[in-house]
Amino acid sequence: MSAITRETFDHVMVPNYAPMPILPERGQGSRMWDREGKEYIDFAGGIAVNALGHCHPKVVAALTEQAAKLWHVSNIYTHESVLRLAQKLCQATFADRVFFANSGAEANEAALKLARKYAYDHFGPEKNEIIAFHGSFHGRTLFTVSVGGQEKYQQGFAPLPAGIKHVAYNDLAALEAAISDRTCAIMIEPIMAEGGIINADPAFVQGIRALCDRHKALMIIDEVQTGMGRTGHLYAYMGLGVMPDILTSAKALGCGFPMGAMLTKAEIAKSLNVGSHGTTCGGSPLAAAVGNAVFDLINDSALLADVHRKRQLFEQGLQRIIEKTDLFESTLRGQGLLVGCALKPAWHGKARDVIQAALQQGVMILMAGVHVIRLAPALNIPDADIHEGLERLEHAIVAWTRSF
Ligand SMILES: *Cc1c(COP(=O)(O)O)cnc(C)c1O
Repeated sequence: MSAITRETFDHVMVPNYAPMPILPERGQGSRMWDREGKEYIDFAGGIAVNALGHCHPKVVAALTEQAAKLWHVSNIYTHESVLRLAQKLCQATFADRVFFANSGAEANEAALKLARKYAYDHFGPEKNEIIAFHGSFHGRTLFTVSVGGQEKYQQGFAPLPAGIKHVAYNDLAALEAAISDRTCAIMIEPIMAEGGIINADPAFVQGIRALCDRHKALMIIDEVQTGMGRTGHLYAYMGLGVMPDILTSAKALGCGFPMGAMLTKAEIAKSLNVGSHGTTCGGSPLAAAVGNAVFDLINDSALLADVHRKRQLFEQGLQRIIEKTDLFESTLRGQGLLVGCALKPAWHGKARDVIQAALQQGVMILMAGVHVIRLAPALNIPDADIHEGLERLEHAIVAWTRSF
């Protein structure tokens, strides 16, 4: 066998990703080391997944304990830790029924199918239209990519599922013009994350609720990225003054163990009756053991309050970079520990170069579209790591802008 390097990727993997030049090897908290032993501060959080950092001891213990007991029995059986996690999610949210899946896309797929089925059961087959927003992202299955509002992700995959409309985000008048009694659901991200970290206006979200009520449509809130503490609320809807009908969660829910969940009300849940939907591995005892440990650690008022304080530290450091470099717009985007820095027009398209420059200086960051730098660090990232990571980022960006 030949030696494994980053180049091996290009010979054995489907080329749908373009991974960075390093090979990560191990992580602890908000630090990561590559195979060469170089250390990085992690502001990327595995794309808002590693909400408790790498290898949190309680999560590792939950996983390894369950791994020695029972991994998988299929949904022909249920399991105590699965039921316990569902109970916790119901107690902490608007919901009273849960469906577990393996990913965000699958949770959204379940949500969309449920919305169609509920409308079919109660109002007939004509009420099947779904409205979503330009720029939104809901996953990569054919249904979720069609509901998502980014044409580049749909290109070449036609014919797409029908009955889906898109309108401008934060534009209540456009939504009011598009909705009708044929609408069965509106799907929205409380912060359009992949689409550039665009915050929903609370009045817009409340307007969606009112329009859904008027037209007997379900409000689906996609909290796959904002969910589980990211915004300083357990779920972002809790800070927006609305109750959704269906909520989806994934990413942070398993902190890196594949897991998704769809939450809803008992009355709506009835439409997914026995046999109408399913998954083989979704909601396994192993995933639920991790989910329980993660949930208990994140559903903690001290941790959630600290998210707001840590955001201030990021804002201070990033403002310093903004003033020093003239690279970014002056207003930061997002909420809590989902932070967006939009590149000024002169730098549009350069987000990937900034990420590479940062990586060289030992700090991992993300992009959200080609014009926006995104940070989604662990919610428990130590202050010292925030300060040092921001210093590394400042060095990286100052050096990089000087190279032109
Ligand atoms: C990441 C993401 C998804 C897709 O989740 P997967 O686990 O990749 O399928 C869906 N919606 C939002 C808002 C996301 O950020």
